[in-house]
Amino acid sequence: MLKKIIIIHTGGTISMKEDKSSGEVSTSTEHPLSNSASIFNHDAHIEEDFLFNLPSPQITPAHMLELGRRIHDKLAAGNFDGVVVTHGTDTLEETAYFLDLFLQTRKPVVVTGAMRSSNEIGSDGLYNLISAVRVANTDEAQDKGVLVVMNDEIHTAKNVTKTSTSNVATFQSPQYGPIGIITKQEILFHQKLIAYESYPIQQLNKNVALVKAYAGMESNFIRAIHNAGIDGLVIEALGQGNLPEGIIPALQEMIDDNIPIILVSRCYQGIVQATYTYEGGGRQLKNMGLIFANGLTGPKARIKLMVVLELTNKLTELSPMFE
Ligand code: ASP
Repeated sequence: MLKKIIIIHTGGTISMKEDKSSGEVSTSTEHPLSNSASIFNHDAHIEEDFLFNLPSPQITPAHMLELGRRIHDKLAAGNFDGVVVTHGTDTLEETAYFLDLFLQTRKPVVVTGAMRSSNEIGSDGLYNLISAVRVANTDEAQDKGVLVVMNDEIHTAKNVTKTSTSNVATFQSPQYGPIGIITKQEILFHQKLIAYESYPIQQLNKNVALVKAYAGMESNFIRAIHNAGIDGLVIEALGQGNLPEGIIPALQEMIDDNIPIILVSRCYQGIVQATYTYEGGGRQLKNMGLIFANGLTGPKARIKLMVVLELTNKLTELSPMFE
């Protein structure tokens, strides 16, 4: 029996067209891949849902939550075997990771997009959509969390990141590589995440800021963020998890105010750990109460902090969720 897959469109370059004379790429009123269902006729029953038509820099946490609820409702209705989401590539990894944390399903949920719009030479949109449906249509894609399929590769939402502004091979999982590949004939998985987590949240309203540390950074910048009124802060720290000593006083003020601070590294590989004892070194930061988030990028640690802050803001409860 053919499986039933729902494709939920949210916009992005995969839904756009290029103006041949000016080279400008913009949103079109009718999705260029709409009615692509007929391509899959022999492989799966396809239903399409045009939820948003947004460039992904305009996607907000409210859109992510709405998308998560839509997927939940469609799956709860019981008759879909898998879900494919089309999305702009700029914030795709954030939406995919949010869905990974929010959804509680064994069924495949696959996010895809395109680097070239629908009528550009070498457009990757239709190809990626077909690949994503093939993955969602595969039994082995079950129980793998939310997946990102682009350019013949299958990545976990947790580890994938956009690495190139324009190359079609932009999505990579720097530390771990893809968990599977797509060939003309097969979908091959060769890795599995060993732990999955999901959080039953009702809203996604917490205000979490993300900053990248730099040489000579000073407290006034951190105080400005603090004064803006935030619920949490994520810092992309230096190296293994160290910060310029100049921001320590401002970080202490935040901790004293019970604002959780999550530390990730601005390096794109490796994990943060409390190693150095000097002023601003990881040991001092850990002793102050900063939470080290192993293996997440800054944008993903921010999504996760937004999600878990809906459940608790106690440092003692937040720490184990990240470490
Ligand atoms: N700027 C576009 C977006 O994220 C890029 C893309 O889809 O590839 O919507």
